[in-house]
Amino acid sequence: MSCLKPEGAMPGATGAEGKDYNPFDAMQPRKPAEAPLDKRNGAAVKATDIRPTGTYLPNNNILTPHMRSPEYVQLSTAAAMTLGLMPGKMHRCSCTRCLNILLTYPEGCRANCAYCGLARHREAERDYADRNFIRVDWPAVPMEQIAETVGRDPENSPFHRMCISMITHPNSDDDTKTVLKTWTDYVDPGAIPISILSNPTTMTRQDVATLKDMGSDIFTVALDAATPELFDRTRGKGVNSPHKWSKYWEILEDAREIFGAQKFGAHIIVGMGETEHEVLSLVQQLVDMGGHSHMFCFFPEKGSLMDHLPATPRDQWRRVQLARYMIDYCGVRIDQMKFDEEGRVTDFGLPTGETDAIIDAGIAFRTSGCPGKFAEDISACDRPYGDSPPSNIASYPFQPQPADLRLIRKQLGKERPDDPYVEDEELDVVQPYE
Ligand code: SF4
Repeated sequence: MSCLKPEGAMPGATGAEGKDYNPFDAMQPRKPAEAPLDKRNGAAVKATDIRPTGTYLPNNNILTPHMRSPEYVQLSTAAAMTLGLMPGKMHRCSCTRCLNILLTYPEGCRANCAYCGLARHREAERDYADRNFIRVDWPAVPMEQIAETVGRDPENSPFHRMCISMITHPNSDDDTKTVLKTWTDYVDPGAIPISILSNPTTMTRQDVATLKDMGSDIFTVALDAATPELFDRTRGKGVNSPHKWSKYWEILEDAREIFGAQKFGAHIIVGMGETEHEVLSLVQQLVDMGGHSHMFCFFPEKGSLMDHLPATPRDQWRRVQLARYMIDYCGVRIDQMKFDEEGRVTDFGLPTGETDAIIDAGIAFRTSGCPGKFAEDISACDRPYGDSPPSNIASYPFQPQPADLRLIRKQLGKERPDDPYVEDEELDVVQPYE
């Protein structure tokens, strides 16, 4: 291992137009095409009408069977591996702490979000249950099988939380309640808390209240886009998709009132064209409301309408991760921070020693989301490699080790003079999960 830094070596991705951030004008999604009639609404899957037997592994060289919620759900590759339903190992992780569940229908999600692998425009090329989502496959499994398996010993389960992700579908409000009931028939919500990742477009305030009454602990709204303009461009009229910024905020306000402080939040994707100041203003607004932000680094999902665009440069991502953690958990306010004319963070608002201590603790750079059983600021939802490849980690699904922290410091432009240069192979060591 060399301790010398090679001339011009630059870890991390390069942003649009060679910048160290992704500017709005460069992050334009492609226009979606309409699928031919014989491919719409899962027509091919329903016409062949093959019935599933147990677990369905995506892209398994057979026709996608006809499966639908609430009997069937999809779960992340990480959750399927943790449950022993799929073989394989995760880079530097022994398991995931969150059982992420996704509703499933042959006709799929009826929205068309530009960054999403599940979007409707993909009907022409891939059956719903075979589509990639946040970089991985999502096998389908009977819901009762999952609940019964975890329910055998929930206190000692690797899962610290279960999350139901709704999609945009006329049945998803009712089916979410049925899936939740199936879970709580087997698993005490006190043993494994429940989160709902909602679909506001079809929901009412009563739906939010019912999900709380049925045992849900945290309610989140996937705003995803940080500004109304970006929302409209990536999730609304810009891509023939039904979502509206105002409806998402209406349900977020309902969640604040019904679930209460620290029990609601919003998902935000960083690097789709917003400025750092814009996204951190949203983070501050959520904290002022009593909630949290859960951040994702934009990654060009294969098959999505943004798969031709660059991932968020690590410089931009690390600045936003650090600033967001300070606002969410360290009592720092955005008005203490300084920004340049491009909206980039230039000063995090704390003395150098305090900033260094937060960086060195490493938690700011872990995946953010609903908490598990380790600490309030450590997300159960670790989504291993959901927003980056393991070779260039955006959100760390484990505690960053000293070599990781040296790379993070380099990406932040806060290297210590005596830090050795980080070689890739140094980061390739399998570490215990915690
Ligand atoms: S509503 Fe959710 S699942 Fe559907 S396309 Fe949009 S981001 Fe994807």
